[in-house]
Amino acid sequence: MIGLKFYLRRPRRCRLLFRRLLSVGLLVCVVLPASSGRTAVGGTRRRSVSGRLVGLQSQHRRLYKRFVADLDKIARSCEQKNLTAEAERIRRLAVPAGTDLFTIEELPKTVQPPIPVSLPEDEMWRRPLRYTRQRYAKDLYLLSRRVLHAGYPSYAYKLVREVARQDPDHKSARRLLGQVRLGNAWVTPFAARMIRRNYVWHERYGWLPKSYISRYENGERFENRRWISAEKAREIHRDFDNAWQIRTAHYLVKTNDSLEQGVKIAAALERFYGVFFQTFAGFFHTREQLQRLFEGRKSRSETGGGRPYRVNYYRQREEYNRRLQKKISQIAITNGLYYPRDRIAYFFHDPKGNNTATLYHEATHQLFYESSSRNRPIAERRNFWIVEGIACYMESFQIENGKRSLGDPRYIRFRAARYRYLVDHYYVPMKRFSAMGLHEFQTSENISKNYSQASGLAHFLMHYDGGRYRDALIEHLSELYSTNPQERAAARSLSSLTGVTNAEFDQQYGRYLADQQASLKRHSNRPSP
Ligand SMILES: [Zn+2]
Repeated sequence: MIGLKFYLRRPRRCRLLFRRLLSVGLLVCVVLPASSGRTAVGGTRRRSVSGRLVGLQSQHRRLYKRFVADLDKIARSCEQKNLTAEAERIRRLAVPAGTDLFTIEELPKTVQPPIPVSLPEDEMWRRPLRYTRQRYAKDLYLLSRRVLHAGYPSYAYKLVREVARQDPDHKSARRLLGQVRLGNAWVTPFAARMIRRNYVWHERYGWLPKSYISRYENGERFENRRWISAEKAREIHRDFDNAWQIRTAHYLVKTNDSLEQGVKIAAALERFYGVFFQTFAGFFHTREQLQRLFEGRKSRSETGGGRPYRVNYYRQREEYNRRLQKKISQIAITNGLYYPRDRIAYFFHDPKGNNTATLYHEATHQLFYESSSRNRPIAERRNFWIVEGIACYMESFQIENGKRSLGDPRYIRFRAARYRYLVDHYYVPMKRFSAMGLHEFQTSENISKNYSQASGLAHFLMHYDGGRYRDALIEHLSELYSTNPQERAAARSLSSLTGVTNAEFDQQYGRYLADQQASLKRHSNRPSP
């Protein structure tokens, strides 16, 4: 039998049941400009860090140094006027995004207003600040093109992120990040089309013609060209064959739970999508694709092409089980599923479970797999751990106080990883771990422990030493998911992509977990202010 049958999110507490489950199936490398020793590895088709990359990184550092000096000058002039809070804010702009936890800053949704010609004395800093940031953004953008030409798409994309951060109205950077300008707003091309058709996004009902809003809010629904009561609509859509369909920029969510729940799921998936594509830009953009984007040629999503990712969300587990039983006999032990054969991610409303973690886990499988329209087996013979490891890692996506983050070490999967290693002393050395293909991994009697280790290792590869291995990991994934059977079969190991031996990885991982545990402990012992 060839091919993944399905991907599931392994429930955390059903080890025995799971044993029965067979045959399933911003800176770094980029380099924090300040951290001179770090290198980009992988992310490209190269085996080692070239002299060219080192040269580009040093250009990056030079630009950064000048930017910091310019900001400092403006901050000092603020301090001379006793504007200490402003000075601090200005200096903070020099801290590159994503250095600590993998926090993802949101870009402003509207165009910045122009700075008035005459400013009061204590706001004079605004003009040189904007000029300095725009100049830095312009330089970084030019550098990003050189980086791309040299063959480092992931690094180039990260530079583009920084361009948009420093100059949120940089048109080319916004376009590369999937946004276009409409009036004074920055929106996705999909949203721009909807707005032009006089639709508005309603946070409970999704995209609606503007003229429908008040009637929807008054308990009416428009169905089959007539207005009916919300109650009647609920009755109709209770049957999954007449499910509500919620279409957003990248998703089509079908549900018989409720319209509001469907909209919530679709909105969560859209937020996740944005972060996912920023994180794995190197996976989705080959050098040629990025080149096209840099040159201003439109992407598929801009031209309205591209099929949405499909998600079915059932009102109850019983229905999920019943409907999917024919596809997957072991459906009852899953709590979410991505089924590559029909390319649909399946979920159900679970009042007790962590719905969003399941959602993000399966969405990860879906986004990686559907990077191509070609069906293909993934990591069947070896390296399967990372397919699950990265999905478990992405479960940690969260939005707290408006801040998006990934990889919080307190997330349950990472806690479990530390526990297995530091308390249980359970660890399968990297060489042996990577030798496992899909079947061996999914049928191992240690599957639960291996999921924890896979989660911990994925975290390590994403964050160790400021993200030193992140690009190599992305390259590894793109070879495993390649549409070219030869490339898939010959997918390079992390060791050959980084030049770091498996034994070194083993040691680094152990130290990484111990340091993480110690730092969390210090943190929790810190007296609260
Ligand atoms: Zn999975």
